[in-house]
Amino acid sequence: MSQDQLYQQMSDLSLDQQPQLPSKSGRKHKRPARAYHDVNGDNFNSGMQAQGNDQQFMSQGQPNINMNTPQFNNAAQFGGAGPAHGQIFTSQQVNSPMSNNGASNGNIQNQMTGANQFGNNISSNNVSDAQGTSSHYVPIQRWEDQINILNKTFQTVNDSVAPLPTTSFYSVDQGSCNPRTMSLSMLNIPENEQLRHATKLPLGMTIQPFAELVTVDGSEIPIISSVDAENNVKAPVRCQRCRSYINPGYKLSYDSTFLCNICNVKSRMPMDILPGIDNGGNATTLEGRLEMNHGTVDFLAPSEYNAIQAKEPLPLHYIFVIDVTSMAIGNGSAMAVIEAVKQSIEYIIDYQPKCKVAIMTFDNKLKFYNLRPDLDAAQEYIVAELSDVFIPFYNGLFADPAESINVITDTLRKIENFIRNDIGGPVPYNCYGSAIQAAQLALSEFTGNQGGKIICSLNSLPTVGNGNLSVRKDDNLKQNLQCDNDFYRKLSDELLKSYISVDIFVTSDAFVDMLTVVTPVEMTAGTLKYYPKFQKEMDDHLIINDMVENISNIVGYQALLKVRCSTGLTVDQYYLKSVDYSDRDPLIPVITKDTVIDVLLKYTDKLKAKEDAYFQTAILYTDINGIRKVRSINCTGAVSNNMAEVFKFMNQNSLMRIMIKDVIRTIGNCDFIGIRKTIEQKVAEILTQYTALVGRRTNSLILPDAIKTLPMYLLSFEKSDLMKPNFRSTRGNERIYDLFQYGMLNSARLSYKLYPQFIPLHTLLEENDLTFYDVHNKMLQIESKSIMELSVRNGYNQLLNGGCYLICDGEKVYLMFNKNTNRMLLQDLLGIDPTIALGDITLYGGILPEIDTQINEKARNMVQYWCEICNKQSLPIVLLRAEVDNYYQEVISRILCEDQTINKITSYDSYLIQLHTIIQEKIKKEDYIKVSGNSKNHELFHQQYVQF
Ligand SMILES: [Zn+2]
Repeated sequence: MSQDQLYQQMSDLSLDQQPQLPSKSGRKHKRPARAYHDVNGDNFNSGMQAQGNDQQFMSQGQPNINMNTPQFNNAAQFGGAGPAHGQIFTSQQVNSPMSNNGASNGNIQNQMTGANQFGNNISSNNVSDAQGTSSHYVPIQRWEDQINILNKTFQTVNDSVAPLPTTSFYSVDQGSCNPRTMSLSMLNIPENEQLRHATKLPLGMTIQPFAELVTVDGSEIPIISSVDAENNVKAPVRCQRCRSYINPGYKLSYDSTFLCNICNVKSRMPMDILPGIDNGGNATTLEGRLEMNHGTVDFLAPSEYNAIQAKEPLPLHYIFVIDVTSMAIGNGSAMAVIEAVKQSIEYIIDYQPKCKVAIMTFDNKLKFYNLRPDLDAAQEYIVAELSDVFIPFYNGLFADPAESINVITDTLRKIENFIRNDIGGPVPYNCYGSAIQAAQLALSEFTGNQGGKIICSLNSLPTVGNGNLSVRKDDNLKQNLQCDNDFYRKLSDELLKSYISVDIFVTSDAFVDMLTVVTPVEMTAGTLKYYPKFQKEMDDHLIINDMVENISNIVGYQALLKVRCSTGLTVDQYYLKSVDYSDRDPLIPVITKDTVIDVLLKYTDKLKAKEDAYFQTAILYTDINGIRKVRSINCTGAVSNNMAEVFKFMNQNSLMRIMIKDVIRTIGNCDFIGIRKTIEQKVAEILTQYTALVGRRTNSLILPDAIKTLPMYLLSFEKSDLMKPNFRSTRGNERIYDLFQYGMLNSARLSYKLYPQFIPLHTLLEENDLTFYDVHNKMLQIESKSIMELSVRNGYNQLLNGGCYLICDGEKVYLMFNKNTNRMLLQDLLGIDPTIALGDITLYGGILPEIDTQINEKARNMVQYWCEICNKQSLPIVLLRAEVDNYYQEVISRILCEDQTINKITSYDSYLIQLHTIIQEKIKKEDYIKVSGNSKNHELFHQQYVQF
């Protein structure tokens, strides 16, 4: 492709239904890119900034690099740690996204956006040119979406497309669920499989049954209970045919029957819920019942709904299992975990007072601790028999934490002493497999198979006892991501069936065969936390926060989930390994606010256009206090035979989640190059279908409005640790941790993981920028005129040398600055002495200090917002300084997801060009699916196209 053609194509880029971006520059006055603090320092002279400050970012004292030198290689400067690090970013990467031509990145962007050659805010110019309309750049899209909903309330029936997962919004339940709780991937459902197939997108849904919601009146989900004469809870009203629960879609008749919206069959209404007179003498109507006008309700469940018949449900039981091998002691993680257990138990006493706790430790043997409240001092029991584990005692194994707090405290103190004084000498062997078995046995025997939660730390590869992995030599060479260890597979199955869920805290970056040892976590919907290079002073607050947060997130256990759909649609698969990606109803041993289930649907029949399709998710669960409930979540989709309408009401978040999970399901032999190719083909096919069937048949690249940032997110997914080239092992900790993240993360955290958000703190902020709009501090606002300034694309060229950025990736918040950053700004932000050396700046406890300055308050607002939207109690703040922090290079190459990667995965801008070329080719060859008439594609069945 010639350079001219390339430019031509880029200038053709447009969003759907928007006029092409005018190819001129500087129409709107651009705010000077200067530091908020006006000081005399020469590096912040705005005149100099105009000259290529992008290229200067993180350079070592070379503020005047000439941007006009196309071959300038700033690899060594970037990161500043010499060639070894500098190789990550080459001049080719910075200057030339297309390896076979000499065009500079800046030029391509300029051509595309009409920005001047040196503009560091290329994206900003772009927005202004686009008249403030939606952008295909994630940062702009996020701010626009938040601003759009600031003064509105999302009405769950009247409003259709849900705000982005990173947008906070107030909602009111009008008889359909909040989209955060459950949402379809296509809000206008294609009337048949042929039409769906022509979109090349999956029809499915994303369900987060216990998502935290912001409601107008702060109302909770209503609890519906009805009791009989003996005060026993009665079963909720259900369809006699499909067993769906009463919901706002049921049509009531005068003949005491109702028509089920799911299966369209009439059932008889139980006599005792018919209209009548309530205790207060008021007339009651069926329509007035809460379950008839709320999209989400909890029903109290009668005893026949118990997980184990004839057994009363119990409050949740926790067992803490602590790794005390010499390696865990050596890196300080054992002590940190003990502190985390202590604080977790305090949390349980305060907020989950009915729950019970137990404590175990392990190295090459197991230790149990008697927590009987009448004991004065801790009593430990050692089990050295690892192949056939047993529980040495029962009375006092689990205790009411408040009652037994003295003996619990003494027990934890004794374990600490044991560690501190190295009693028993160094024990480098760990019997993790036997420890999990023992914890399972303890929970099952003590609760009568009712289940519970195991919270376990692990620092090394299990080497003794059951599940010993030290003899396996070949793991480093495996080219698949399947657990092939019988012991862990069987253990995981048993845990699942016994309603036991496992959380694991891995505190070492050494090879622990994570894929195998965390199989129980994956199968039981637990949480995996990973602390590579654990350092006590850096990470102990992290592990404590994470453990307490996990516990605070738990909603209940013994959960069974079922999705029901209107006639014509049914579940194809739940994206869960525990059901082997089938349509079997998933059992979720412990369910949390963050539990998310993605579901793929399939057609069993043609739907009727213009009618509604109904969906109900029911989760039968035991809440944390031992009360059995059913949460019923209901939503509706309109059936359509109009392709344009189908594309218009896509839910990008759910589509993206399903597509990513489908890749993971079919990851097979880890042919990541091949997988990348299929993702790219898939994206090209989707856009081709749209261009051919809906879009204007122009030469432009058209991105459908509802899915305009989908290519960016999927490109970023291609660049993730999961898909890094596998020269040797496919089972390194980083890759496996990444894989698990995709299975576990809620939608907001997944969005930030794939596209971290950069907030420039050095810019001149308007008064309302980064302040809360509402009195409840839920919605963070910026002024419309600040969108450009506060939207930073995640590319090296977009960053300002001497800038100061707050960056969230959903797991951490990085505070990025360098030696050219205005010290007065850092003083206002962090309260530090402006003369302090860059490398000496620290953040105590990983939090921003509270200082009475505007910039400090705005930064803390931003962090608070991220915590809320990610459902995190806290996000650790980590400093990110070139030449100072040894993780700098690794982090920066991960978060700059728009850039070309070291293994040559393309930049976003080039990616769009490539897509455009492929789409043009396909259109020319008529290589797309047509929807009218009896096209040859009609015989396809869904298995052939849902898969990547
Ligand atoms: Zn029914």
